[in-house]
Amino acid sequence: STWDTSVVYNQLENDYHISVIMYDISDIINVKQMQIDFLRNASHELKTPVTAISGFAKTLLGGAMDDRKTLVEFLKIIDQQSTQLTSLIQDVLTISHIQNGTPHHSQALELRKFVDTKLTGYSSMAKVRDITLVDEVPQDAVVSVDSQMLTRILQNLVSNAIKYNRSGGSVTVKYSANDSFWQLQVVDTGIGIAQKDISRLFERFYRADDSRTKQKVSGTGLGLAIVKELVDSIGGVIHVKSQRGVGSTFTVEFPINDESQTAQVDK
Ligand code: ADP
Repeated sequence: STWDTSVVYNQLENDYHISVIMYDISDIINVKQMQIDFLRNASHELKTPVTAISGFAKTLLGGAMDDRKTLVEFLKIIDQQSTQLTSLIQDVLTISHIQNGTPHHSQALELRKFVDTKLTGYSSMAKVRDITLVDEVPQDAVVSVDSQMLTRILQNLVSNAIKYNRSGGSVTVKYSANDSFWQLQVVDTGIGIAQKDISRLFERFYRADDSRTKQKVSGTGLGLAIVKELVDSIGGVIHVKSQRGVGSTFTVEFPINDESQTAQVDK
């Protein structure tokens, strides 16, 4: 532990009191260190697409654009890298919002309709990869939740389930509830996750080897960190079950209580 002290000096009539107060500030230092690490990693990740964009643009301007095939090829890379840059900036902003303690606005939500709409938003991405999207949420499911927050969570889980799937596979969203919590599951038939990666998936910027190198799937490595931080902020939990080559199931559980309906999360 790291300690900070402050001295309080009081005079009561002719008596002097000196109190020494000691604070355990290790948590504050840990948060600081996390913020420093985050900034360092974020800058590093942001530099990669910027370097590519400027490198390919300069090469084109230096004469390479006279060859039409090279021109098209390089412009495609510049376009992809700009998309990557945009995703990174969006995710970094989201993390900074979460850190600032975004207030939650819970409202009653018809979950079936909500999930349908979100899945429809991914239909073209799924079609290109020949993946079927299935909404198994019961028609009568109503939950109290911040819809923007749930959107963000579903977007990240569903887009991962599509990205790390196989052609002909499926992504299914399921719902269940009991007295104390309700849960959503995103089930995919994809590549699965190695045991050694599972414990690190929710770290900021962590990507399993396959996604970074072999598979060349685009991503920021922040999606699951964002999901976990959002779920944590309302006292929920997230867990994963996965088998290599068979698929993964991500489960998010939300507590059912009065607090979660009016919770203002300030950190
Ligand atoms: P990314 O932007 O790389 O998708 P995420 O934080 O969303 O970042 O996910 C972190 C890593 O977890 C991914 O790079 C991938 O290796 C792994 N992953 C996430 N979801 C799945 C999934 N449904 N199936 C297999 N691997 C996954």
